[in-house]
Amino acid sequence: MRYSDLANFIDGKPSNPKTPRMERYSPVDGELLSTIPLSDAAELDKAVQAAKTASADWSQWTIKERAGIFFKYYGLLKEHAAEHADLFYHEMGKDPKETPLEVAKSIELTEFACAMPEVCTGDFEVVSRGVECHEERFPLGVVASISPFNFPHMVPHWTMPNALVLGNTMVIKPSREAPLTVLKIAELLKEAGLPDGVFNVVCGGREVVNAIVEHPDIQGITFVGSTKVAQMVYTKGCAKFKRVLALGSANNHLILLPDAHPEGSATNIAASYLGCAGQRCMSACVLVAVGEVDPIIAKLVEESKKYVPGVNLSAIVNPEAKASITGYIDRAEKEGFKLLLDGRKVTPPPGKEKGNYLGPTIIDHARPGSEIAVEENFGPVMTIVRVKTLDEAIEVANSSPYGNGGSIFTQSGRAAEIFCRRIQAGMVGVNVGVPVPREPFSFGGWKDSIFGGGDLTGRSSIGFWTKLKKISVKWNPDKPVNWMA
Ligand code: NAD
Repeated sequence: MRYSDLANFIDGKPSNPKTPRMERYSPVDGELLSTIPLSDAAELDKAVQAAKTASADWSQWTIKERAGIFFKYYGLLKEHAAEHADLFYHEMGKDPKETPLEVAKSIELTEFACAMPEVCTGDFEVVSRGVECHEERFPLGVVASISPFNFPHMVPHWTMPNALVLGNTMVIKPSREAPLTVLKIAELLKEAGLPDGVFNVVCGGREVVNAIVEHPDIQGITFVGSTKVAQMVYTKGCAKFKRVLALGSANNHLILLPDAHPEGSATNIAASYLGCAGQRCMSACVLVAVGEVDPIIAKLVEESKKYVPGVNLSAIVNPEAKASITGYIDRAEKEGFKLLLDGRKVTPPPGKEKGNYLGPTIIDHARPGSEIAVEENFGPVMTIVRVKTLDEAIEVANSSPYGNGGSIFTQSGRAAEIFCRRIQAGMVGVNVGVPVPREPFSFGGWKDSIFGGGDLTGRSSIGFWTKLKKISVKWNPDKPVNWMA
């Protein structure tokens, strides 16, 4: 076994519940990595009580003092970046060229949290003669964060640094596929001086999630994962009067116009659908090809061939996910759509024979509305739908139940402007394959890709993690002024 058996991290120390454990095998080469506790409601409660106790003191620190801990953490994270990146390469199979970029994004998210005292400054105004109003933000208390497998380092940093600097204490439930990464993050926070109980990690599956949505002492929940579970967490959490923001699945459309830059577009589109082997909520899924774009598609096929499973193309997280993606390709083939590239049969490089791999797959002339064009398959698969006009292309993209991201590839400013105005998605790009906003802009989709108000990161996160107090003060009670003077 590559690593030792994992324990939860509660109140600044390891906690080993007497619950069943799960073996976790690396998708890279099938090696046994560790065993993971499948925690229960009692273990979750232990973490919540630790967070509740820690909250009494942590919420009284000034925002600058709390940011001070994250300045130290920021330095430590930079120091340990390579070690963290290596961990989740083994855990969830992300290509080693991509893992450092994910850690770099976590560092950027931490940097934003360090700047919170400058961003979250409140407001003040003399609202009438002798009367002033000001705003102050207060933490919610104990909050929970539930994360998916595909960004095991970045997604915890979408929530943890901002929530904590704003005065909350947190229990995080990582994916069963990649808990080791979050446990390492917890260790580093302790080293940075974070008081015990402020950040707790509880490993496990749906039992922990169900306990989170039910727990009376948890005030706010963020979820990132599939739409089915996002909807469950959102409805159950709201029914218990919690603040909930749940991010769900995606099926992002890229529109390709004939005037697009041929090489630049092909390179960008390939990187978008093949990064993390398509296991990204902002991956390109459907290419809506407008008019005569065959020369660019030919370049896309050539570009895609440069991605070799197990060499520079990530592994698929587990055998079940691989079987699910293969099923989508099988059914698309049965529908009569044309496979320009078929990644179902691959030979992994020596030493990785037991890993889970799929090669680049391009399915052309798919019918709009067909399963492969509508559902998220979460694999290295590009589906091409052919249309004649930009209007038709936007209609195809907008017919998706999801609205996470979308992009257009063109050199026409007018076409780009029409697309940006009309596309029903939360994160939109022009000649950008993965239009993820950088800090301080916020991350969040539309439609069935998000449930709840506001976005998860950046400036928008402040509203989610805090409650606002409005304070009116009158210093001259003797003066004959009324409230509206
Ligand atoms: P998932 O929904 O299977 O799991 C997410 C979390 O929910 C995990 O912690 C998991 O343990 C828990 N969970 C799973 N099934 C559950 C159930 N039945 N009841 C209670 N809890 C449950 O998602 P995943 O496979 O880890 O990640 C891939 C999905 O996440 C894709 O759909 C992807 O689009 C989405 N995602 C979305 C975003 C976004 O920003 N919108 C970002 C990353 C991933």
